[in-house]
Formats: sequence, C-alpha cells, structure tokens
Amino acid sequence: MRKTEALEKLSDRDKKHLWHPLTQHKVSPDMLGMAKAEGALLFDEDGKEYVDGIASWYTCMYGHCNPHILKKVSEQMQQLDQVVFSGFTHEPAVRLSEELIKILPNNQQKLFFSDNGSTSTEVGIKMALQYHHNKGKKCNVLLAFEEGFHGDTFGAMSVSGLSVYNGPFEDFFIEVERIPVPTETNINQILVFLERRLEQKNIAGFIYEPLVQGAAAMKMHNATGLDKILALLKEHGVLLIADEVMTGFGKTGKFFASDYLETKPDIMCLSKALTAGLVPMGLTTCTEEVFMAFYSDDMAKGLFHGHTYTANPLACTAALAALKLLQTDEIQTGIQNIIQWHQKFDEEIKQHPKVANTRQLGVIYALDLDVKMERYGNLRNRLFKHFMDQGVFLRPLGHTIYILPPYVTTETQMQRIYGAIKSALELV
Ligand SMILES: *Cc1c(COP(=O)(O)O)cnc(C)c1O
Repeated sequence: MRKTEALEKLSDRDKKHLWHPLTQHKVSPDMLGMAKAEGALLFDEDGKEYVDGIASWYTCMYGHCNPHILKKVSEQMQQLDQVVFSGFTHEPAVRLSEELIKILPNNQQKLFFSDNGSTSTEVGIKMALQYHHNKGKKCNVLLAFEEGFHGDTFGAMSVSGLSVYNGPFEDFFIEVERIPVPTETNINQILVFLERRLEQKNIAGFIYEPLVQGAAAMKMHNATGLDKILALLKEHGVLLIADEVMTGFGKTGKFFASDYLETKPDIMCLSKALTAGLVPMGLTTCTEEVFMAFYSDDMAKGLFHGHTYTANPLACTAALAALKLLQTDEIQTGIQNIIQWHQKFDEEIKQHPKVANTRQLGVIYALDLDVKMERYGNLRNRLFKHFMDQGVFLRPLGHTIYILPPYVTTETQMQRIYGAIKSALELV
C-alpha cells in the first residue's frame, strides 16, 4: 500500500525530485527534514532540537523568526509586495539607503541591489571592469586572494580561489591573478611583487574578503598587512572590492570588517545577514567616484545589469528591521557576551593536545584539529554526526571546527556548543 504523503518522512519524499546544493547525492543521499526554527534553535521533523551554531550560513544573526522583523515584513506585505525598480522607487528601498549609508564606511554613497551574495560580487566585478572601460582604459585583469570565495556565478567563481567548486568551469573564466593573504613574513614580498606587477597598468580591481575568509574555513589575516596592500593598490588606481557578504553586520565585532582598516573600499558586497535570514537579497555599494564613471549622456556608459526582483520591498523591509536591531543595546550586548564566552572557551581548550591552533574575530571562532583529513572526508562526517547527536548544528570544514552563532544565542545554548566541541576532541 502506498503511504500517504503526510505519513512519509520529508527525508524520503525529498529523494524523488530534489537536487541539493554542494551535494554529491550518491555519497550523501539523506537530508534531514527541518520543521521549525525559533531564536538560535532549529527543530527537525521528529521534534529534536539543535542550536544553530552557524546561524544558517551566517544569515539569521538576530535569531530565527525574529518577531520584530516578522512584524515589519508582514505589514509591508500588505502595503506593497513587489514592483519594478527600473523607473520606479519605493519607501523601503529609499529608507534602507538612508539608514545603511549611516553605518557604512563613510566613502560609500550609492547602493545597487541584486538577489544574493554571488550577484553582489558579480555586480562589483562588472562595476570595476566597466569603470575603467568607461574611462577608455584597458584593464582586463582582476586580482584576488588565494583561497578566497566570492560565490557561484561565473564572475564570482572566476575570482574564487577554492578549486573544489571550480574544476569543470576553469576554461571559461575571466582573467584573474592571485596573491596570498598577508602574514608578517610574506607581506614585504607581496608588496614588492605588486609594485612590479602594477607597472603593466591593466588590473581593474582587487576583490578580497577582509580579515576573515569564510569558505577557506574561517582563515584570518591581520589588518596591518591588508591595509598596506590596499593602500598600494589604491595609489595605482585599482578599485578595491570588499566582499563583506560573510563579515558584514557586526560579526567581526564592528559593523563591517572594513572598519578595522584605514584604506576604505571603493565597492562593497553585502548579503547573508543583510536580510537577517528571512528572504534573500544582495547589495553592492560604491563611492560617488565609481558612480560618476557611469553617469553620462551616453546610454552605453550606464550599468546594464538588473534582476527581476531588484530591491524587493519585502527584502528591503527585512534589511531595515535587521539594521535597527543591530544597533540596539540588546544585540550589541549579545555580541559582546559571545565574544567573552568564546575567549573563556578558548582559554580552556587551546592547550588541548588535539587542538593545533585557534582564532577569533568578534563572534567568529575557529579551531584547527591536529589531524590530517580531507575537506569532506570521513572524520569530518563523524564530527558532524557527533554534533547533531548532541543537538548542535555545526559544519566542520576539513580539520576546522568553527562557530558563528546568532547574536541572540543564550549562555546555556553556547555551553551546549562548547560542550559538544570538547567531547568531539575526545573522538578524533
Ligand atoms: C556566501 C558568500 C558568497 C556567496 O553568497 P551566496 O548568497 O551564497 O551567493 C560570496 N562571498 C562570500 C564572502 C560569502 O561568504
């Protein structure tokens, strides 16, 4: 007898028609059915509870189903749901521009909307390439960091240095050159190399994840080295594209990672926590100078890029509500608490024989295990299962375990995450 859909589990019904992201279905056929989320908690279809230790890929920083955000978006929904953004404008987009400009690095002046993190970097790349084109210069190369990640569309993939994602497409990429992230020992070498390389005058832009490379397993680099690179590139007219899709909106302990740097970006890419995990949206912001390179009587000098859902009023409203929350004492205190709890936890475990090293910036905490393993190898899967069994959602990457919890995570919930990591150290 055929089971009715209601009796069959989500994980079984899923297998018939669904193709999941970043998944080899033959190796990993089983998806866990999730039924509900609230605050820092996720609930699966059997009612088991998990602390969302990575804020569902760094999005739900104010907690899942945040009542303030839900209220604002549901009010907006009944007022204006969607409208074309070419030729029209609306209150949520205008207000968002006014509010966001107040906290962005003070050279940022214009906002260009798109749909997600990849499109925000794609637009940033196109802005940089066309900026020089509009000025009659032939700059056809982009500079990026090794092991950077900027998304999955073609431009974004081209500048990403993580080959696990890029293999079959590499022949179709735009031209990109890479430099290593700065350390105290290699920074002078990088600067010497760049001085020489810049003589060719064909680099349009430099795209970088400031201070923390998320997909490279929360690899961190110091602000001093990055600042030297940025200053040199800026002096040579290379546009600086800060990909803050992951680092934006308080995660590093400041509003943006760029706030730790002296040299401000020409272009910034934002998404993920921008809309607090409620609906997708991307933003590419830029300086007046970048905008003015497109401002002309000549139609062809405009930026001819646009998505159907550009500046969707509901997404803008979610972003506005999130921005408001970010600036409340409650959220700022939450951030400071998590920073301190991480520091205490770090004191406890950094000497553990299985821990090779630890690092932290703001609420982002990562540790490398002192074992060799593949990015998605067996031990990684055992760790993942261990965490889920303990009611903690973490996604180890290779030999790195990292935490990036919602700002509303309670001390008890954080202790559950730390406890699961401590017991995991006895597994490896
Ligand atoms: C996630 C991420 C992207 C891509 O964003 P999507 O919304 O997944 O397309 C780009 N850059 C960085 C730094 C990211 O973390």
